[in-house]
Amino acid sequence: MSLERTLTIIKPDGVEQGNVGDIIQIFEKNQFKIRAAKMLHLTGAAAGGFYAVHRERPFYSDLVRYMSSGPVLVLVLEAENAVSRLRDLMGATDPKKASEGTIRKRFATSIEKNVIHGSDSEENAKTEIGYFFNALELV
Ligand code: GDP
Repeated sequence: MSLERTLTIIKPDGVEQGNVGDIIQIFEKNQFKIRAAKMLHLTGAAAGGFYAVHRERPFYSDLVRYMSSGPVLVLVLEAENAVSRLRDLMGATDPKKASEGTIRKRFATSIEKNVIHGSDSEENAKTEIGYFFNALELV
């Protein structure tokens, strides 16, 4: 067991559908502590930079358009094994394949509009936290 931090984003569809409160309740019920939070409307450049690893993928331009289409809530969560535990709570990328009870199964409408991002490794979590937050913004 190790205390970790991970980055999560409630994506534009989750904010627009009014899922923010339900999703934060899921974080807190699962012993995640919120260490930082900010509401942002990403520019295309900011969304593109965040997802730069996917720039060669066929869905990249759609993904950037979607992620900059409306406000998002970006949070840093802390918990034991936060990275893998959050990924488990999120469910599979494609909500049709997500397990019952996961956030994506409950709220997502497509493989693109899947409500939530979560870092996929501790190393990426550190990079992604640094993308959005400076040291003063983390408690
Ligand atoms: P994640 O780690 O589960 O979020 O999945 P990935 O890192 O593979 O993909 C990043 C994001 O790109 C996903 O969360 C989706 O919003 C989007 N995405 C992934 N695969 C597809 C796809 O096949 N088509 C489209 N349109 N979007 C996708």
